[in-house]
Amino acid sequence: MLPGYKNHSEKIELIRSGKLSLKENISFFLSRIETEKKLNAFNFVFRDAVNAAELIEQKIKESRAGKLAGMVIAIKDVLAIKDRPLTCSSNILKNFESVYTATSVQKLIDEDAIIIGKTNCDEFAMGSSNENSAFGAVLNPIDNSRVPGGSSGGSATAVAANLCDASLGTDTGGSIRQPAAFCGVYGLKPTYGRVSRYGLTAYGSSFDTIGPIAKNIYDLALILQVISGNDLNDSTSSSQIVPDFINEINADRKFKIGLPKEYFSEGLDSEIRKKITDTCDSIKKSGHMVTEISLPHTEYSIPTYYILTTAEASSNLARYDGAHFGHRSKNVANLDQMYVKSRSEGFGSEVKRRIMLGTYVLSSGYYDAYYRKAQKVRRLLKQDFDNAFKEVDLIITPTTPTVAFKIGEKSTDPLEMYLMDIYTTSANLAGIPGINIPVGYNSEELPIGMQIMAKEFDELSLLQLAFSNF
Ligand code: GLN
Repeated sequence: MLPGYKNHSEKIELIRSGKLSLKENISFFLSRIETEKKLNAFNFVFRDAVNAAELIEQKIKESRAGKLAGMVIAIKDVLAIKDRPLTCSSNILKNFESVYTATSVQKLIDEDAIIIGKTNCDEFAMGSSNENSAFGAVLNPIDNSRVPGGSSGGSATAVAANLCDASLGTDTGGSIRQPAAFCGVYGLKPTYGRVSRYGLTAYGSSFDTIGPIAKNIYDLALILQVISGNDLNDSTSSSQIVPDFINEINADRKFKIGLPKEYFSEGLDSEIRKKITDTCDSIKKSGHMVTEISLPHTEYSIPTYYILTTAEASSNLARYDGAHFGHRSKNVANLDQMYVKSRSEGFGSEVKRRIMLGTYVLSSGYYDAYYRKAQKVRRLLKQDFDNAFKEVDLIITPTTPTVAFKIGEKSTDPLEMYLMDIYTTSANLAGIPGINIPVGYNSEELPIGMQIMAKEFDELSLLQLAFSNF
């Protein structure tokens, strides 16, 4: 049995002192991936990952290794890695290989992390259950009859089932936080623009973010530190200074925390409500101030999110036409037929639904009624947060209205599935950061997640509150 470690700094220490062999550690993860194959967390496993072990172990011993030296990380299969498959869990990209590496992944590699494979997800990151994948559903590692959440279901499962140290997911409306909540792990969606989107397959470009999923807050902060920062290849990436998250994480600060009453109304599972309220009571006891606040436009967040993201998706996914990327239908009579058949065969039904919805809300005659209106509501939702953050430093809500549901339970009812994002889409609409913290279990031993949100570029406060309390 290999020695366990609490976080990455302990792992480095074990390797440095010769108590942990990195090669054995990677082989351990590779064999766990094999034993837990039924979870279906990975689309592709990089067995050659073990080749990097010797060099990195040497660097650690000589104190010249990067910040993530030896951390074994899995990458959601919507992020590009040069000469590796990039499928977005879609048949339309079945045989596609990336010609370059995403900035976020390159930054991990530059700090000596080891990439162990590409994780399963909902097709093009559209979904809340990981059931919309051409590679098949992912099983929740805690209860295999349930979904792991989505769309970064494979990334959350891989961490929860101990198939790697940490993973990268992406979050357009909750896809890091919701699966992290369903699987009982930590997940952080950074501020929009904090992390470069270069090499991330676009879904809703004004919403998409990349962030870490990990087993503890320290590792979350460390990965965020590494992947953050301005990138000339992404004009929407911010040049805001990246704080030294790791050095500042244990500062003893007392926060003013708001609980938005709209997030605790009907539709919230009673065991989750109780767990979050109890957790807030104990946060209060440790000296933070907790008060009720209001985010009055909350009820519009789901419709606004689904109008705007489908609009963006319909435009972004126009590039998969059979000519430029991936699947091309054979036996077609003309060019039009080639487009139609390639797209009809390549995309799954949820992706098609969103392309149609998005095309509709952007079409002449409906644009003003839907798309433009939704843009205005997006501004109102952002203003709700701006007003709230004049009163409080942080906002606490449940991450999800229910615990992980059964596989198949909601797959025939898209609206019910969309409601799983009720507490998470608002952070993407407003561009602010959010984190999922596992805070316990319900009576069926299923994990419950709590979300903390902060103002733009204030991930540090999220991490500090989380670090000192959990
Ligand atoms: N579940 C949401 C959706 O289906 C969020 C997805 C995401 O964040 N990528 O769009």
